[in-house]
Amino acid sequence: MEFKSVAIDGPAGAGKSTLARRAAQALGFLYVDTGAIYRTVALKALRSGVDPEQAEQVVPLLEGLNIRMTYGQDGEQKMYLDGEDVTQAIREHRISGVASKVSAIPQVRAFLLDFQRQQAREHNVIMDGRDIGTVVLPQADVKVFLTAAAELRAKRRLLELEQRGQQGTYEEILRDIVKRDELDRNRPISPLRQAEDAVCLDTSQLDLEQSLQALLSIIKEKIEL
Ligand code: C5P
Repeated sequence: MEFKSVAIDGPAGAGKSTLARRAAQALGFLYVDTGAIYRTVALKALRSGVDPEQAEQVVPLLEGLNIRMTYGQDGEQKMYLDGEDVTQAIREHRISGVASKVSAIPQVRAFLLDFQRQQAREHNVIMDGRDIGTVVLPQADVKVFLTAAAELRAKRRLLELEQRGQQGTYEEILRDIVKRDELDRNRPISPLRQAEDAVCLDTSQLDLEQSLQALLSIIKEKIEL
């Protein structure tokens, strides 16, 4: 059976995970959050005390890396590192910057490539990340580049952190988002960029429901459901 795939890429805080999760629920697809995989590698690097910017320190960790991903009945993706459920731990704000650093290492990306592709071989997926439409699933049935003004993305991220009971100021989050985008856009391997055949969806002027409807209509135009 041929499975369908939807690739959603875009900068930090564009609402990719919220929208992809909701769209996946609406369509009965599996939502695969690839950022969570990079975050789990980042957590491993942090716990191992290595410098996330030094490939020669991070790469040796890959050999014994024990990462597992499961999906609950509700479609919720859980991440396990060395047998421990780290689904919450990887959401800490400090992990974001470290994830961006380890994800710039070519060997880390190569190591995770098949892990991500495997999901699309086995399910109808909506997969979000930075290089899904360009590298991971270049044959995806639908590609969307989701974006919004940096100030709005920072506001939304702040709200999300507050809802999880975490600390942060708007200025700090905006600074981190801009820095992370810069790192993600300018890395030599798999940089964040819009695939040529992707539809750009800018949600700056849209609320969540409007964004979801816009995303669903882009998907339904390309996939017969
Ligand atoms: O999507 P999220 O913000 O959780 O991703 C954390 C970091 O992981 C990103 O800033 C990016 O550097 C990296 N990432 C990536 N490629 C992906 C998904 C995430 O490089 N497909």
